[in-house]
Amino acid sequence: MMDIIPREILEEVTELRKVLHQHPEISGKEKNTAARIKQWLSRQEPDEIIEGIGGHGIAAIFDSGKAGPTLLLRADLDALPIDEVNTFKYKSKNPGVSHKCGHDGHMAILSGFAMILRKRRPAKGRIVLLYQPEEENGQGAAKVIKDKKFDKIKPDYAFALHNLPGYKKNAVIMKEGPFAAASKGMIIKLQGRSSHAAHPEQGLSPVHMMKDLMEGLMHIPEKKELFKDFTLLTIIHARLGEIAFGTNPGKGVVMATLRTYRDDDMEILNKEARDLAHKLSEKHGISINISYTEEFPATNNHPEASKYAFEAMKKAAVEAEHIDTPFRWSEDFGHFTGDNRGALFGIGSGIDHPSLHNHDYDFPDEILKTGMAMFYHIADQIVTLK
Ligand SMILES: [Zn+2]
Ligand SMILES: [Zn+2]
Repeated sequence: MMDIIPREILEEVTELRKVLHQHPEISGKEKNTAARIKQWLSRQEPDEIIEGIGGHGIAAIFDSGKAGPTLLLRADLDALPIDEVNTFKYKSKNPGVSHKCGHDGHMAILSGFAMILRKRRPAKGRIVLLYQPEEENGQGAAKVIKDKKFDKIKPDYAFALHNLPGYKKNAVIMKEGPFAAASKGMIIKLQGRSSHAAHPEQGLSPVHMMKDLMEGLMHIPEKKELFKDFTLLTIIHARLGEIAFGTNPGKGVVMATLRTYRDDDMEILNKEARDLAHKLSEKHGISINISYTEEFPATNNHPEASKYAFEAMKKAAVEAEHIDTPFRWSEDFGHFTGDNRGALFGIGSGIDHPSLHNHDYDFPDEILKTGMAMFYHIADQIVTLK
């Protein structure tokens, strides 16, 4: 593994990771991060750099000039609105913002691979290194794909990785088929009529409907006969009226996260939740408004892409961690595996490593080389590196 990734490259990449860590930006505001990445990429002499794709996204194209498949490798640009409690020298310089999902590490891995590509270019087809914005809110991948500039880099194959605390450092976690869950945030607003608290009979409080709605929503996943696989509905927030002891409330809101391993199950879960809300709305005479946020499709690892990933694991001689059950979290990389031959895999960050999004989390630099080696061996199978 070490021969394809020289020590000097690894040292530079580790340094880059720390610089990126010091300057985190939240979803949709990754302007300076993108500029820093652009500077780095320019030095690796790609054939083209595309800026401002799907927001602050940036892509570097290494083109063999010969016929062949387009391989897209993706990293994510955004950090989280979380205060850093770490005190190390390269701690976040932006108050209230820090890289607590390790996207600094993912960017460093892809940027390290760009350094390798500078000397070992594809012999056929093209490699596109994509730094995608807005992963954390589930909007970035969809925005990138919708952007006209994406037509130019439309891939035949797409791969991405995510570091995973709770798994052995440098183990590669991989599974064909469903890999990470689909999820979406559902917001149900209820509108009745407020009145004096002394005269609730003159108003129309949503309280009864809210009670029925919350109870009904929680029971939907229990209807196993409706679904092919795992479904989950978590009520994450509810509010009724205002804190005013003289007022009988006139409005309310219930929010839930819907989660399934399969996109078709998500459609059913969503329809069941909507039907229930409409039925109760009629029953209680409360008008409703349903909206959605943070929608992620399921990440489905394509058989052919999975085959390349498994082969890369062998070639990189990494410890393989096969999983049977998909992850319950979501990744917007699912947008790339939808119509494409794509795969997402995990790299263990260490069994006892702080969890993603935790205050004390920091990307473990010891796994940079495994990420780079995986990308190298995936690319070498698909576009042959010279
Ligand atoms: Zn995250
Ligand atoms: Zn992440």
